[in-house]
Amino acid sequence: MTASHPVRLKPGDTIGILGGGQLGRMLALAAARLGLRCQVFSPDPDSPAFDVVQRATCAEYADVEALEFFANDVDVVTYEFENVPSAAAMVLAARRPVLPSRTVLETTQDRLAEKDFVTSLGIRTADYADVSSVAGLREAIVRISLPGVLKTRRFGYDGKGQIKIRQGDDLERAWAELGTRSAILEAFVPFEREISVVAARAADGQVECFDVTENEHRDHILKISRAPAAIPDALAEQAREIAGRIATALDYVGVLAVEMFVVPGKQGPSVLVNEIAPRVHNSGHWTLDGASISQFEQHIRAIAGWPLGKPVRHGEVTMTNLIGDEINTYEQWLTVPGATVHLYGKGTPRPGRKMGHVTLVSPTPPKSA
Ligand code: AMP
Repeated sequence: MTASHPVRLKPGDTIGILGGGQLGRMLALAAARLGLRCQVFSPDPDSPAFDVVQRATCAEYADVEALEFFANDVDVVTYEFENVPSAAAMVLAARRPVLPSRTVLETTQDRLAEKDFVTSLGIRTADYADVSSVAGLREAIVRISLPGVLKTRRFGYDGKGQIKIRQGDDLERAWAELGTRSAILEAFVPFEREISVVAARAADGQVECFDVTENEHRDHILKISRAPAAIPDALAEQAREIAGRIATALDYVGVLAVEMFVVPGKQGPSVLVNEIAPRVHNSGHWTLDGASISQFEQHIRAIAGWPLGKPVRHGEVTMTNLIGDEINTYEQWLTVPGATVHLYGKGTPRPGRKMGHVTLVSPTPPKSA
């Protein structure tokens, strides 16, 4: 199999996963159910994904020799985090198909490139401007106006690498605090709610979206997801259509999540795209127990070249992250009717560390005739 031939895995074939966190772990578990093997590559010897696979490579992403050995051992490569160094992706792509592709990584690793891409499709985002100096920040403020959110172009997650800027703030200090030379300023969006769409796209162009999820953050970290989101059907359809359009324009293969803001308007609420995650996503964890097929299985099917499933939701689903010390409450959840507990096997709970999650499904009562 080479990068130029479509992937068509058979049961028993091996998927290489870059990244050994909980997402890699849940991908490997989904693959196992389909008779596929996984090999995980991660620099962290305590990677939770190592526990559920037979073969693991513990090496740095800059270790070309280790990457080459890894590539030779697997049939296709995928990843569980978007900050895969481009040099590593290049080494792997020379040997095996890397899905989603390197171009997807290039677009989604850079907030400016990502926003330019989304707006080029005619999809709305918050107003934004490229900023590379304090003088540039001043100019951007004139154009965007305040309040705004100053974000590093690269390596931001869970609210890291971003600063809210209000009228009268010390701009020199904010710029120094961000500690980068490449950033964007975004208009602060007074959103009604945050939603996301987890979508899967197969190599033949088939797209399947899960129901729209509503997300609640605490301290910038996802705390609760609810499916379906409490939004009008037409808006949900619009959100799913946007996610599908993004996946198609990226020629995407696999699962991606599109995070959006719902904003009020005279003609009713509408959506703005905030961010694309080119991977399975925390806001899709509810699908593990709340749908006929999970986001993890959809991703595995897509990169294996298998047909995607048509997900059917089992009812109203809530997913709650167990963050830091909240892991200690797991026993209380075990006996809650409708709850399923997922623990990631991580060692020490630290503040902000995602240790597990719980899904709670309330079946929708059957409609009476
Ligand atoms: P991000 O890293 O871009 O996903 O941002 C993390 C969180 O910060 C989002 O989920 C929002 O809650 C908040 N946020 C980010 N950008 C904006 C914005 N332009 N306006 C309002 N809130 C934002």
